[in-house]
Amino acid sequence: MFVWRDAVHVPAADLWIDPPVPRARAVVTHAHGDHIGRHHSILATRETAALMRARLGPLTVTELAYGTWHDLGGDCRLRLHPAGHILGAAQVEIVRRSERLLCTGDFRLERSETCAPAVIVPCDILVMECTFGRPHYRFPPRSEVVPQLAADLRRTLDDGATPILLAYAVGRGQELMKLLEPYGFPLALAPHLHAMVKVYEELGIRFGPYELARPGQTRGKVVLVPPHATTSALVRQSTRPVLIAATGWARDGAPPYRADRSYPLSDHADFDELMRYVEEARPREVFTMHGFDEFRDHLRARGIHAHPVTAKVITT
Ligand SMILES: [Zn+2]
Repeated sequence: MFVWRDAVHVPAADLWIDPPVPRARAVVTHAHGDHIGRHHSILATRETAALMRARLGPLTVTELAYGTWHDLGGDCRLRLHPAGHILGAAQVEIVRRSERLLCTGDFRLERSETCAPAVIVPCDILVMECTFGRPHYRFPPRSEVVPQLAADLRRTLDDGATPILLAYAVGRGQELMKLLEPYGFPLALAPHLHAMVKVYEELGIRFGPYELARPGQTRGKVVLVPPHATTSALVRQSTRPVLIAATGWARDGAPPYRADRSYPLSDHADFDELMRYVEEARPREVFTMHGFDEFRDHLRARGIHAHPVTAKVITT
């Protein structure tokens, strides 16, 4: 059904999923930078198309609603399902004759404030994202973590320092804005994040008050900044900046970027959610992407045929 050539490729339909280089026809599962591309013919949700255009400029995209079948030719048809990762994120289901392939893309099962909840799709072959495929990556419920994060932000402000909340410009930033809305913090957003919030609003997501962050004018505000921008003028010119991360990597004690402290909030499935997906989708075979080799051992221990997706180099 598929082969691996630096991305999932379905030869019968000459279709690629999130290929890293431009291809004739590709599905883009969501608008994170390592998934988007300027392909000749693109299939994506309306929301992913809008977020991609905001980042890459004009693009021709065939926009697909979740759950609607699209004929690919070559005896193949495709439909997208919500992935619960960021706005517009999709899982890709492809059926050829009687075989069903499901590629999760980046996904999360816990409910999101800014995108449709993920569904578990029964399939024969499952290609899944396994970023947090180790047992210690079990994330506490958001109802526990968000009040702790909010209390930290409040203490930091009361202390006369400036909380710099590290958040990716697409997805995490908007999710944190919604999660923190009940606490009424004055929010100031780094320029790229601010621009992406505007796109979210055009797509129908509503936020509480916020403003564009300006260097030297962040006192008394919670400042949302992408993790790669911790040396920007915005941060350097803030009074006693305190870097606070919200990421699944908090389970390792610290994220893989500069932060003073971190809280386990993620847009990716944790270990239990990965296991639950496999158990409920009941695939014949699982191919794992990203994450750790040991996740396959956990699957095999449960009697599931699991392989790295990179092992799939010949057509079946
Ligand atoms: Zn992603």
